[in-house]
Amino acid sequence: CKKNDPSKGLIFFNPMLYATNLKVEDIKMELKQALSKDEFLIHYQPIVGKDQSIHKIEALLRWRSEKYGFVAPSDFILYAEETGAIISIGYWIIEEICKNFNPLSQTDRPLQISINVSPIQLMDIHFTQTIKKIAEKYSMDFSNLCFEITESVVLDENMVVYDNLHALHNLGITIALDDFGTGYSSFNYLRKYQLDILKIDRIFIQDSSNKYLNIVKNINDIAHLLGMEVIIEGVETKEQFDVLNNMGCDYFQGYYFSHPVTLEELKHLTTKSIPH
Ligand code: C2E
Ligand code: MG
Ligand code: MG
Ligand code: MG
Repeated sequence: CKKNDPSKGLIFFNPMLYATNLKVEDIKMELKQALSKDEFLIHYQPIVGKDQSIHKIEALLRWRSEKYGFVAPSDFILYAEETGAIISIGYWIIEEICKNFNPLSQTDRPLQISINVSPIQLMDIHFTQTIKKIAEKYSMDFSNLCFEITESVVLDENMVVYDNLHALHNLGITIALDDFGTGYSSFNYLRKYQLDILKIDRIFIQDSSNKYLNIVKNINDIAHLLGMEVIIEGVETKEQFDVLNNMGCDYFQGYYFSHPVTLEELKHLTTKSIPH
């Protein structure tokens, strides 16, 4: 728009903003090439049961950019979504998981692997079919896969998304709602979308006051009444684990048990109990 257009007001050149925008555009460019440059890797964080042994694992994407170095998911997932790059990245993640965690490659009891799935991926009408093909290619049991979605997915009420989630669930894939408590946190859609697992966000346990712990207890009880399992995120201390365990949470995830680790480190962790 014209700088001196009085109806639009004055627009000043902002060098900081300009630099930021340039950087964002450049990050988006780098992201588009990152897959072919083999810059992504996956870290795995154990999710433990009441006995503190590993029951599930969450796959977390890592980007080691040639240009920017290590970039945290919070600094690039949004751009991968905006550019649509998340679709091919997402398929790559599923393929890696199916390759590494199918029954043939697991010696011990099979662990369920949670994968974060963005709304953009679920808007792809071919999503379910593609997932099915990849899983079958590696003889991966659908029951060993869990897709973690966020509240924005269900709030949008998009038909393609709804159909994909329904079809994935019918295949036997577990659906978890991630970060519960950070958004609207309405219980209304939990049944409509056939969600199997509720992941309560770590914000509730960061504050150790009874008020917040009571909220966790109530969310946990309602989720159970709705037939869902509960994972509590961000458990960092033994004290937190004890309180949440007594409260009746089913699964626990957090630095107290393990940080996200490489596949090699994970193999090491799953062949012995977690040391404390
Ligand atoms: P999320 O799905 O809620 O993942 C949990 C995040 O909490 C991870 O951050 C994990 O490292 C961190 N975390 C785990 N335990 C603790 C703890 O005890 N204390 C604290 N302070 N943090 C803990 P990370 O790996 O940085 O990922 C951030 C977010 O990026 C994820 O949140 C998820 O929304 C998104 N993300 C990560 N990988 C993927 C992916 O493959 N696809 C998509 N679409 N999103 C992803
Ligand atoms: Mg998650
Ligand atoms: Mg989460
Ligand atoms: Mg999160």
